[in-house]
Amino acid sequence: MQPLPKKYDFAEIERKWQQKWEDMGIYHFDWNDKHRPTYSVDTPPPYPSGEFHMGNILNWTYFDIVARYKRMRGFNVLFPQGWDCHGLSVEIQVEKEHKIRKRDVPPAQFRKWCEQLIERYIAIMKDAVLKLGCSIDWTTEYRTMDPDYWRRTQLSFILLKKKGYMYQGTHPVNWCPRCETAIADAEVNYEKQKGTLHYIRFPLEDSQEYLLIATSRPEFIPACVAVEVNPEDERFKKYIGKKIIVPIANRTVTIIGDEAVDPDFATGVVQICTYGDKEDVKTVIKHKLPVISLLTDNGRINENGGKYAGLTINQAKKAIVDDLAVAGLLEKSDKLAQEIGVCDRCKTHIEILEHKQWFMKTRVLTDDVEKTANEVVWYPDYMKTRLIDWARSLDWDWVISRQRVFATPIPVWYCKRCGELILAEEAWVPIDPKLENPRVDKCSKCGSREFVPEHDVFDTWMDSSITCAVHAGWPDHENWRRLFPADMHPSGIDIIRTWAYYLMVRHLALFGETPYKSCLINGMVLGSDGRKMSKSLKNYVTAPEVLGKYGSDATRQWAAGGGATGSDIPFRWPDVEYGRRFLVKLWNVSSFVNKLLSDYELVRAEDVALEPLDKWILSKAEKLTQKVTDAFEECQFNIAMEEIRNFTWHVFCDAYVEAVKDRLYRPQLHGQAKRLAAQYTLHEVLHRVLQLLAPVTPHLTEEIYQTMFAENKGCKSLQTSPWPEFNAAFVDEEAEKEGDLIIAIIGEVRREKAEKHLPLNMQVKSITIYSGSAENARIIQIGESDIAGTIKAASAIRIIPEKKCKGRQISPYDMYIQTEY
Ligand SMILES: [Zn+2]
Ligand SMILES: [Zn+2]
Repeated sequence: MQPLPKKYDFAEIERKWQQKWEDMGIYHFDWNDKHRPTYSVDTPPPYPSGEFHMGNILNWTYFDIVARYKRMRGFNVLFPQGWDCHGLSVEIQVEKEHKIRKRDVPPAQFRKWCEQLIERYIAIMKDAVLKLGCSIDWTTEYRTMDPDYWRRTQLSFILLKKKGYMYQGTHPVNWCPRCETAIADAEVNYEKQKGTLHYIRFPLEDSQEYLLIATSRPEFIPACVAVEVNPEDERFKKYIGKKIIVPIANRTVTIIGDEAVDPDFATGVVQICTYGDKEDVKTVIKHKLPVISLLTDNGRINENGGKYAGLTINQAKKAIVDDLAVAGLLEKSDKLAQEIGVCDRCKTHIEILEHKQWFMKTRVLTDDVEKTANEVVWYPDYMKTRLIDWARSLDWDWVISRQRVFATPIPVWYCKRCGELILAEEAWVPIDPKLENPRVDKCSKCGSREFVPEHDVFDTWMDSSITCAVHAGWPDHENWRRLFPADMHPSGIDIIRTWAYYLMVRHLALFGETPYKSCLINGMVLGSDGRKMSKSLKNYVTAPEVLGKYGSDATRQWAAGGGATGSDIPFRWPDVEYGRRFLVKLWNVSSFVNKLLSDYELVRAEDVALEPLDKWILSKAEKLTQKVTDAFEECQFNIAMEEIRNFTWHVFCDAYVEAVKDRLYRPQLHGQAKRLAAQYTLHEVLHRVLQLLAPVTPHLTEEIYQTMFAENKGCKSLQTSPWPEFNAAFVDEEAEKEGDLIIAIIGEVRREKAEKHLPLNMQVKSITIYSGSAENARIIQIGESDIAGTIKAASAIRIIPEKKCKGRQISPYDMYIQTEY
């Protein structure tokens, strides 16, 4: 065996193994292997954002542990990595950097800037993924902005269009006036804001009476299409069907009744405008009301706003309130706490606009989503309700078109003369309809030879919600079904409503099957103060900072051990420091064991005569193997971590290694057979610890394995060595009972020496143990040589099988010990 260097240099070791593993190609999925079972991780391609944050570290550590564990269990693991490039934030960033708006420059130029920015961002994130030591098969790397990926997105669209899932419609959609694009429900965040509730008089037609309406959006009065009351409301039901004058606009609308109106909120009378909020949309559809569009795409009042046309929403709000006050129609204004929908990417107040858009029929799939979500295995189980509740809460189908530049084109044209839609054929993709005409001579309906391209592009989720099929090799690999559904889809708790949901509906619609068999959920990373990590709260740490200071293996322990899977996990430096101390401990004990094993030749269990303490730790190691295996199977990484670290630190280092030193140092006293038994046990138990730790701390365990075990165990990497199978033959309850008692006696003497400030190697002149029972006496006898050797007893242990309260009690036993120094 080669010696281990004295100092544990994590930076050097981690860099070395990351390179060597890559060179050895041990993470490559073997497409030709027909024997091993496959296991595929549906790695979510992240938005390249230029930062790999601690949340990403948590995420990637989780699924890297799973990938490494499954590899050791004998699976042919597919662990791909892609990059989801078409995020809206990239366009916003490019606009900022170049001080332009996306429409100011030719699309090709804008795309190029986006691609350059993305490549810069990917490089930063990839560096962090590599430094974290993720066991990714980089031959699978892809970018959703590559035309070869467009091909898959476009093909899936064509197939779904043919199946009837894709349609165009003029429907109200969430609209970001800053980004000037439609956005999906999942991209709307809700923020608490202070607003104002204005009480406005709406005069009844041909009457001196008026109804008082409370609204936080007076700027929408020009788009008022009805006034609504609750039909059970005694105050107002007599007005239902009557006409009322819309102030400012000076036209009449009808008063309608609807039980959705809450008589107790404000005045109990509401204006219906197109569209002040989502409730307005429901009412307009239900009562078949007309629509007056009021806003332009960039959030200004249009010509329907009369004298307010051209103003921004906020300017119009102020002008209208002022005019109402002058007209004597504004009764009062109160403060109001309200929830406002804002754009996920730019935080601008979301409006609801009616536009012609492409939609995917997702609501027809809701029952299927619920049924499938119940069949999928969730870690932790209760997370499935998040997906089901989200699916059930959706009011609208998924709007999949966007008015953007940097995205996958929708492969569609229209006949210039008759408007007939021409869908690209499957063989045409990838294609950009803005650059190429459809490959047909003429319109099949009217014969025209002129076409206009679809200018809208796909929502970025259209790219990323087919990854389960794409990773499996769809549509090119003839055997892609072998890897589909994915064995595991990992996801953050915050993106269940997007990632887990969109994957589900896309694949259900395309293939009639769940995209993933299991779903692993990670919580959020909180700051050390328990609050959400944020740069402004000064509780923010970056991944390079943590990885640079303590390395990957320590950081991964924080991620694995920081809390139960699915729960939010605070980032605490002491947790990473503890991880690092554990690694140093493991390094030091390995170095020490390595010296003790310098003359060890591999033997088989049946060729050694094991002592009680040897059987004791071998039995505990076997039970540990069972517990850790169960924990990994259930993705309970924190439980696995706690079990391994406790065993390594307390059972192996503190107890066993100390207790067998004397046997190893003084074979002339104990005999060669006992020495060999200890060597065998050290060798096997340390190797077992490395195996169990390998998925979490791959670098250090590999370094120790290669130095001490590779020759004997014969695997080229610990990472591809077989996971230890639980072996009941090594479980020995009797030996555990005996060993516990022997260790307790040793521990008590060591404690006594510490309390008396005596050196640990201080000789014990005489030792008497009141064993309390004949059984205890027997155990002390068989463990005597290890006890005496470890505590440095100068004479034989006197054992008195009586119960006598003299001396120090050995907890938790009813035994007493007397020592003389
Ligand atoms: Zn926006
Ligand atoms: Zn035509």
